[in-house]
Amino acid sequence: MEKQQLLYEGKAKKVYATDDPELLIVSYKDDATAFNGVKRGTIAGKGVINNKMSNRLMRMLENAGIPTHLVRELSDRETLVRQVEIIPLEVIVRNISAGSFSQRYGVGEGIEFEYPTVEYSYKNDALGDPLITGDAAMALRLATRSELALIRQYALRIDHELTKFWQKCGVTLVDFKLEFGRLTDGTIVLADEISPDTCRLWDSATGEKLDKDRFRRDLGGVEEAYREIMRRLEANDPV
Ligand code: ADP
Ligand code: MG
Repeated sequence: MEKQQLLYEGKAKKVYATDDPELLIVSYKDDATAFNGVKRGTIAGKGVINNKMSNRLMRMLENAGIPTHLVRELSDRETLVRQVEIIPLEVIVRNISAGSFSQRYGVGEGIEFEYPTVEYSYKNDALGDPLITGDAAMALRLATRSELALIRQYALRIDHELTKFWQKCGVTLVDFKLEFGRLTDGTIVLADEISPDTCRLWDSATGEKLDKDRFRRDLGGVEEAYREIMRRLEANDPV
């Protein structure tokens, strides 16, 4: 597989074309941003950890019947994926209150929900990724009704699988963000990444944060937290 021109440089990854028009190479960076790019920094080793963690978790989800963009890991930082047309929605699943949910509704963090919640943000940096309803997403033709129904179903199944896996690792899955896309034939697949950048992961025993909130909130021990969460994943091989 030949790496060709850089198509897009995002906040956390670079995306390259390949000699196959249906395949891309994603390269994970150590760059970290928060609050829509206002806070910037680097987390040494993050790119390698996120690449490997995302691939292991996506392989696990594939085994559970959820289609993903993953083709194969090429190196520590690079992975071959199927090119999709990204649906510009951030699909957020929450099991426990935290972050913007707590702010929006004026509740503390750490309230366990009886049922997981699925919410959507419109992926649009200029607008600051605003919360959006399913109806508004359909009105803007971001996705069809049946696509949204399937995305919600996948999101809840992914929550179930990830919660179960992280539980084995002594980690509580608080919430996470997903992105889905369409293959050329319209098939919806999970794309982007699943990593400590996109999940809230708390040590089940101590409540210690093992995710990007350490960076967002200047809690220190950022690199250590990424290494610890990867160590737990490797000790409980998801695939
Ligand atoms: P951003 O700064 O927009 O979050 P990232 O640094 O995360 O970007 O880079 C990844 C970009 O590639 C994102 O825009 C993401 O939506 C997109 N992407 C992820 N997976 C795929 C895929 N399989 N096909 C096409 N685009 C993808
Ligand atoms: Mg991103």
